[in-house]
Amino acid sequence: MRIDRIELFHVAMPLKQPWRTAYGEDATVHSVLCRMTSGSIDAWGESTPLAAPCYSPEWGGGIFAVCRDWLAPAVIGQNLPTATHLQERLALFKGNPFAKAVLDSAWWNLHSKVSGKSLHVALGATRDEVVVGADFGVMDRIEELLDDVGRAVDDGFPRIKLKFRPGWDIPMLTAVRRQHPDHTFHIDCNSGYQLSDLPLFRQIDEFQLAMIEQPLAHDDLNDHATLTRQIETPICLDESIASPRHAQQAIDLKSCGIVNVKPGRVGGLTNAVAIHNTCQRAGIPCWVGGMLESALGASMCISLAMLDQFTYPGDLFPSSRFYHEDLCDPPIQLHRTAEGLPAVRAFDRLPEPIPARLESLQIQRALIAS
Ligand code: MG
Repeated sequence: MRIDRIELFHVAMPLKQPWRTAYGEDATVHSVLCRMTSGSIDAWGESTPLAAPCYSPEWGGGIFAVCRDWLAPAVIGQNLPTATHLQERLALFKGNPFAKAVLDSAWWNLHSKVSGKSLHVALGATRDEVVVGADFGVMDRIEELLDDVGRAVDDGFPRIKLKFRPGWDIPMLTAVRRQHPDHTFHIDCNSGYQLSDLPLFRQIDEFQLAMIEQPLAHDDLNDHATLTRQIETPICLDESIASPRHAQQAIDLKSCGIVNVKPGRVGGLTNAVAIHNTCQRAGIPCWVGGMLESALGASMCISLAMLDQFTYPGDLFPSSRFYHEDLCDPPIQLHRTAEGLPAVRAFDRLPEPIPARLESLQIQRALIAS
C-alpha cells in the first residue's frame, strides 16, 4: 500500500456545553483529521489531543505541526503493507503519540478499505456490539449532576463515571452514593492529586467504587504502585499509559489493576491493540476511553472496543451527547441490546467529514504529496 497523498486538517469543534475536568475546561474540542490516499482509494483518520497541553503534553496545533513537518514526510511515497511498516517509519521520532495516531488511524482505515474488511474485523474483533457507559464532568451544582445521574441509571447505563477534582469530591460522591447505593460508579481524577492525598483515597474506599482513574501525575507509574498497595479500590491508569512499553511496565510494577486505552494517547490503533493484548496475557481488564472525538474518531474507538479484553463498558458516546451537529456523517447513535442496555454497533464503513462542516470548523490545513 503506497502512500501517495496526505491532507491534514486542524479543526475546533464547538461543544454543546464546556467540558470541565481536573485539568481545566474546554468549550471547543481541537482535533486533527487526515485524508490518506493510496492510488484511487482514500480514507480518513483522526486524533484528538484537545486545544491545550493540559490533558497530556500534546495539543491540537502541536500535533498538526508535527504531522506536517515530520511524520507525514516520513511516510509519503513509502510502500507500507502492514501497520508494523508504518510504525517503523514513525519510530525515529520520540514520543508524540497523539500525532502518530493521526497517521496510524488513517492507515488502518485505508487498510480496511483496501482489504475489504470492516475495521473491527481487521483489528481482530469477533463481536460487533458492545454495551457503553455514561460519563459526567464537573458541574456548577450537585443537584444538576444528580438529575443527570438519575436519568443515566433509569436509561440502563451499567456504569457511570464521575469527574473528580478538589472542590468536586467527597460531598459530590456522598450525594450520588446516597441516591444510588448499588449502582456501579467510578471516578476520574485526571492526575489532579498527589501521594500525600492518601487520607482522601482511604476515605474514597468507603464508596465501593469500581476504580479510581488516574489519581496521580500524568507521567507516573511509581507513586501509583505505592498508592495501589495502600488502598482497596483498584486504580485504573489513563494518562500514564502512553505506549505499549508503559503498559508492560505498569503491569510489572503493579501500578494499576485496570487500564484505560485511548488510541490517540498511545500512538494509534496499532499500539492500542498491542496494549489490549498485553493486558489480556496479564489478566488485567481494560476498557476504551474517548477524547470527545468527532464521529470518525469515535467510530475508531468503537471498532477497537469490540476486542475481547475490553470488558468494562467504554466511554463511547452518541454524537448528540456533546455536539449539536457532528463534523462527520453518519453521527454515532446508541441502540439497545436484546437485554435493553445502551450499546453501540461496529461500522462496516466509518463516518467521514461533511465537506462544508469541515471547511467551517477548520483552523489550518496542509497537503503533503509525493
Ligand atoms: Mg481519564
